[in-house]
Amino acid sequence: MKRLLRAGCVLSLVLSLAAGGAVVAAGVLFALLPRDVPLVVEEPLGPYPVPEPPEGPLSGLVVYLSAGHGWLLHRVRHDGEPIAWGRQRSVRYGMVEDDWTAAFVADYLAPAIEAAGGTVIALRERDRNPVAAISDDGDPSHYAERIVVRVEDPLAQGGSYLRLEPDGGSVWWLEVPYDGHWYLYTRWVASEAHDDRAVYTINAGGVSRQVVVDQRAHGGHWWPLADLCLFGGDLVEVVLNGSGGGLPAADAVRLGGGSYVFAPPFDWKVRNRPLFDVAMPHQIEHLGAPEALSTYECGNPVSDMRLRPHWASWASPDGEEAVYLSIHTNASPRGRARGLTVFAGIDKTPPTPAGPASVRLANALERSIFETVRSRDPGYVTRGVRLGNFSEISPVHNDLTGALLELGFHDDRGDAARLQTPQFREDAAKGTVEGLIQWRRGADEGR
Ligand SMILES: [Zn+2]
Repeated sequence: MKRLLRAGCVLSLVLSLAAGGAVVAAGVLFALLPRDVPLVVEEPLGPYPVPEPPEGPLSGLVVYLSAGHGWLLHRVRHDGEPIAWGRQRSVRYGMVEDDWTAAFVADYLAPAIEAAGGTVIALRERDRNPVAAISDDGDPSHYAERIVVRVEDPLAQGGSYLRLEPDGGSVWWLEVPYDGHWYLYTRWVASEAHDDRAVYTINAGGVSRQVVVDQRAHGGHWWPLADLCLFGGDLVEVVLNGSGGGLPAADAVRLGGGSYVFAPPFDWKVRNRPLFDVAMPHQIEHLGAPEALSTYECGNPVSDMRLRPHWASWASPDGEEAVYLSIHTNASPRGRARGLTVFAGIDKTPPTPAGPASVRLANALERSIFETVRSRDPGYVTRGVRLGNFSEISPVHNDLTGALLELGFHDDRGDAARLQTPQFREDAAKGTVEGLIQWRRGADEGR
């Protein structure tokens, strides 16, 4: 540990030199660090003291948050031949559902859940930046000591990761590409031998914070560490230390969302969109997942609405306290309709009833969202809780307790205007968090 702290001190020195006027490219900084820094181990490393978990009424709960729709390679009947590239909904009254859900999740709902102590795993990228910087084990921007072994694994970034001694450590550096709001992630590969309380310390933008993760689970996908306002050229430093409770696994860190670039087979023209805009199936490689997840055994691609619950069911380990929330706005197939509808999932193939925990969750969310929004907006109405045969929350496709929120009708003039106000989005997020808290309390009371 001492050795890594020492590298951090030298880093600050280099940064202050850089701030002194000289323009120093990150490559130069990385060349200086850490291999050219004389490091002396004065005493055995670690184990690192483990900080307390985040406090709050949702502490310990993992929320798989699915912002509905997004840019998609449309196929004949969802899984056939590709026919078009575009959003899944059209512009109505100044909004498009595909974009609204992503912005609501990134700017309102995910931050509100995190402020209450919950962990958010977003199924669509929350970072709007079209670029991403990755530092992987083995890159010059990564350093590790007390390495047990390099493990080859298809679920690791770049195909391998480092397994460290319990008192080993690892540090990654990333250069911020330009001024902006950036999300920082890390990943590892899960194993029973790995540290159940691995400590990541994030030093960036003058802020230092720690995130504790259980590396026995959630391997092979990115885990959120922080979102930060950073200046271009700044260095982000991420340090991994073990708790002494197992072997820390050092794989990679990522800053930024990045883009989806591809040429669809119907015209072979190159398309390029920030992953923030893109539907979940095109994020699957970016999210991290076993390859087999995105196609059926026959080779057909799994549709957007099915891949989301399949991925969450894969990512969430047995026994995790977790919920799946699907965020949508509604459209009326005939006649006019408005207001909130909250669905608990059922299925018809085979006929499967909704899980009791999901029904309870849908009820808690419906009541709380409606009451919270209505307290400042008397025009908001609710259509109540319903059972929905939707793949995303289907008990056949989704192992998690879940609910699908249709927060308003984007084809209703009044609801569309309401959905676009900061007040509505604030209150809908607040109501969702309050609903999750009440649902949890009910579970504790065994209702
Ligand atoms: Zn929708």
